[in-house]
This record gives sequence, C-alpha cells and structure tokens, in this order.
Amino acid sequence: MITGSIKMISGPVVHAKDMRGSKMYDVVRVGKEKLLGEIIQLFDDIAVIQVYEETAGLRPDEPVVSTEEPLTIELGPGLIKNIYDGIGRPLKDLSEMSGDFISRGLVVSSLDRDMVYDFRPTMKVGQNVSAGQVIGEAKESELIMHKVMISPGIEGKITKIVKGKKNIDDVIAVVQNGSKKHNITLSTRWPVRKPRPYKHKLQPDIPLITGRRIFDTFFPIAKGGVAAIPGPFGAGKTVTQQDLAKWSDADIIVYIGCGERGNEMTDVLKEFPELKDPKSGKPLMERTILIANTSNMPVAAREASIYTGITIAEYYRDMGYNVALMADSTSRWAESMREISSRLEEMPGEEGYPAYLSSKLAQFYERAGRCTCLNGVSGSVTAIGAVSPPGGDFSEPVTQNTLRIVKVFWGLDSSLAYKRHFPSINWLTSYSLYDLPLQSYFNKNIAKDFSDLKNSAMKLLQKESELQEIVQLVGPDALPEPDKLVLYTTKSLREDYLQQNSFDKEDAYCSLEKQYIMLKTTMNHYHRCKEAIENGLVRVNYLTGLKINEMIARLRYSKDITKDSKKVEQESIDCVSKGGGDQ
Ligand code: ADP
Ligand code: MG
Repeated sequence: MITGSIKMISGPVVHAKDMRGSKMYDVVRVGKEKLLGEIIQLFDDIAVIQVYEETAGLRPDEPVVSTEEPLTIELGPGLIKNIYDGIGRPLKDLSEMSGDFISRGLVVSSLDRDMVYDFRPTMKVGQNVSAGQVIGEAKESELIMHKVMISPGIEGKITKIVKGKKNIDDVIAVVQNGSKKHNITLSTRWPVRKPRPYKHKLQPDIPLITGRRIFDTFFPIAKGGVAAIPGPFGAGKTVTQQDLAKWSDADIIVYIGCGERGNEMTDVLKEFPELKDPKSGKPLMERTILIANTSNMPVAAREASIYTGITIAEYYRDMGYNVALMADSTSRWAESMREISSRLEEMPGEEGYPAYLSSKLAQFYERAGRCTCLNGVSGSVTAIGAVSPPGGDFSEPVTQNTLRIVKVFWGLDSSLAYKRHFPSINWLTSYSLYDLPLQSYFNKNIAKDFSDLKNSAMKLLQKESELQEIVQLVGPDALPEPDKLVLYTTKSLREDYLQQNSFDKEDAYCSLEKQYIMLKTTMNHYHRCKEAIENGLVRVNYLTGLKINEMIARLRYSKDITKDSKKVEQESIDCVSKGGGDQ
C-alpha cells in the first residue's frame, strides 16, 4: 500500500510526499477524513492530487493513501432514475448519511446493493462468449430493459448461468477460459476517463428527432451527433436542454448539471421526477440519469462529472440504446480545468485556460457517436453541450474551441429572448453539418420535397434580413410587391413556425409529419400569392387583413393537422381568387 503524507495544500490541489510507486490518475484518500482525490501530476516522490471534496481544514503531514486504481464508476442496473454527484455517488444516499450539507470522505456505492432484479438469461451453459456480448436481461425501470454484458477483457465458455431474483453482487454466471474463471454479476466497473470500446463508428444518417421545428426542419442533429448551444445568460440554454431531454426520441437521457447555479439544478431535480415521458406516459425519470455538480460543489468533482456522465452514456449505448447526453454547461467545466491548471502553476493559454483545453473538449465530444458495438448491435451517444460565454461573446476560447469540434451550432440570441421569441435560436447564424447526411432520411421517410421545401423557406428568411436593412432606411411601403410578400410570409414563418411554445400542450411537441405539413401549407400559400401578385390580382396590403393568417397561425395548435391544413389550403385558394388587386 502506498502511503504518503500531505506536503502542501492549495485549494482543491494537494501535494503529497513519499508517494513513489503511484501512477497517474490513481485515486487516493487524502487526510484523516479520507477525502477522495486523483493524482494528476507526479514528480520524484511527490504526487499532485486534485481533491473532489472541500479541502478546508486539511493539514500538512496528514496521511495520503493510494488505492492504486483509477477513478471508476460502477455500472449496472440501478443507474436509471438515480441522481449522482460528479464522481458517481448517489445524492440521496449522501444526504441520508450526512444531511443536506454533505460531509466529507463518504464512500458510497453508485448502485443500490439490496435491490433485486429478475435476471433472465439469454444464453446457455456451453456457449462461448466474448467482450460486449449480452448473456441476459433484467428489467431496470418501467421503460428500460438492462442488458447484462460480458465486460471487455473477458472471454470463454459459460459454465454456469442462473435465473431469477438477484442483487448486483450475486454471481449470475461463470465464464471459464482455460484455468481462468470469471464470476459475472449484474454490475461491472469502468475507469471513467477511458472511452469504452466499440467495433466501428457508423455514418450519422438517422436524425435524433427533437420535436422542435427549428431544430428538426432547419438544423437537424443526427443520432450520435455532437451539438453546442452557446448563449448568454438568460437566453434559454437550460430550457432548451431540458426540452431536448423531455422530447427527443432518445431511449435514455443523461443530464449533467455542471457548475451552474444550485437553483437551476434544483428546478431540474424538482421538475424531472414529476415529468411524464410524452411517448409512454410513464415518468420521464424511468429513462433518465441526472448528475448534479452545481457551482457550490467542489470544483475537481465538476471536472470529473463530465467523464462520469459520458461513461454511463457509453455503457447504455453498448446495450444498443440511443442515449442523449446534455451537459449544462461545458463552460463551467472548462472553468474547473482552468482553476486546477492555475493551482498547478501551468503555463496559461488563452484567457487563462490551460493549453490542453481544446484537446480535452475534443476528447469529450469524440466519445459521442453512433456505432456498431462489440456485440454487433448499433447504439449511439448524442452529446449536446451548453456553452455560456461571459457577456455572450462568442469569440472567447471555450466557444471557439467547441465550434471547431461540434457539427451543429444552435446559436441562442438574447435579442430574440427579449422579444419573447422562443426558442430564441438565431436562424441566420445557426448551422448543422448533418443537414446533408440526413437529407435522404427526411426525403425518404417524410416527403420527397422535404429538403427543397425547407431550403426555400430558409431562403425567404435570409432574404428578409436583407430587406430589413432597406426597410430601416426607406420604410416598408417603398418595397416592391414581391418583396412585401416575402416580409408577409417570413413574419408568419418566424411567429408561427420557428417559435414554439414549450408550455402549450399541443405545441410543445411537433412531429416531423406535422412539421412538414405546416411548412408546406405556409409555402403553398406563399407561392399562390406570389403568382397572383405577378398577375396583378392581389396586393400584399389586402392579404395582411385576412382570416387566413390567423388560420395559418393556429396550425401549430392543431390536433388534426391533415384536416386543418386542408381547410387552410382551401381558404388560401379562396382569398387569392377573390383578388382585391386594387385595394
Ligand atoms: P440560460 O440557461 O441560457 O441562462 P434559461 O434557459 O434559464 O437561460 O432561460 C431563461 C428564461 O427564458 C426561462 O426562465 C424562461 O422564462 C425563458 N425561456 C427560455 N426558453 C424558453 C422557451 N423555449 N419557451 C418559453 N420560455 C423560455
Ligand atoms: Mg442555464
């Protein structure tokens, strides 16, 4: 056992001497209270340790003991529905042990050891198994069937497999390889900083359907994709991430509240357990794992929380699930790296962030993806990170480095939020590099002209921003009729299509089919009016006062879009044919 003692303490960073033989990233217990820490630098017999718990009160010469193991998390049934701190300790157990103010040095297993699961084997004695292979299942929650997999590194023949009610420590199978015997239980351990292996990555050609029109239609994300939501304070990052957690068609959600204020996380912790999964009607928590490391919690554990989260996400991916991971916010994560780096007196890079900021960000997002897992099934981890640049300045290092990596940029715009345009995503600056790879999915599964339709709608929106400059100079009346019609249509696109009310029962979720019909109806009306204007039959002033506008606006609340859109089409035909050319 490697036992040293404290030499120096600097905030969350502790230097310990007599630590020869230790390895980088080994977990240590620091001081009399046995605070959890991790070795992040080694020189001579000195280990530099980042401590995941509050270090106040630690004194030099107190003991430091290495566990000689990296930071790992226990993976198995019981993760779902749970709420963890940054290093995978269930908050409920922590608070039961020590009250609201978590005391230090607590060792808590991430999984409930008493809970029993009904294990049903899917393989038999005598069969050969290798890493990743599923040997049986156990129902973990109302919505999730847990697949029990052979851990990487193990292969051989099954010599025993049992069924029935088991807890996570019971041996449910034995795998033998020569003289080596492996006892298999429902759970396994994995070092959080190491990506879990897979066979190969797949093309990002299936969308993660979010039910938000601005995302699915204009800036779609693929299953296994990576996206960033940068935005200033109050622009809607948290609401957007929570909406995605509620409505996207992922099987499992891992939500990391990383370094944001405690009250925001309280909202999540209070609200999520009450939410219903819109698809199944069951509580949303039945497919959710929360990781909470708020700004008042130790900074080193915040650094670790991202790894804890993505490891859990990869674990469920390996079972063949589509997992969506939200991190709110990666800026606070980067700040924790900055704080630790400065305590280490490393050479600072841009704005004091460590020079390895970009590689750490890249390594995190690199762990997302859709892939063929070791057992041959496909699963995915989609990673969506909120970025909170100070003052909303997107040129700062975290935003810039993130944008170099992610393929989707959903740019929040506080001027839209002031106007109560929600979700306040700027449609002119946002982009998705999955647009092209997903095109054939949309055209094949929704409608042949899906991409053409949305491209022509986006062209109008871009044209609007050009026209607005002219309008500011000379007023709207000076515009020619076709341009007035563009403004007439884009007003409707903005207010009735891009805006979406998360708090309205019908509008909160919009299926792809409904999105298509709504957009098609709006654009059909545009083309009809355009033709009529070109023929001198209609003027835009006449159109603005008509009932049709209200009807288009009501489409998003429609319960029967096929029926209601037909009425709108008829009204559009009628109002154009009635003319009003000289009015
Ligand atoms: P951020 O996380 O960027 O600081 P929030 O997500 O907390 O901002 O949003 C701030 C406020 O803006 C919310 O409390 C809510 O009132 C409003 N808001 C944001 N997005 C929406 C939305 N999609 N629909 C309605 N209101 C929203
Ligand atoms: Mg927020």
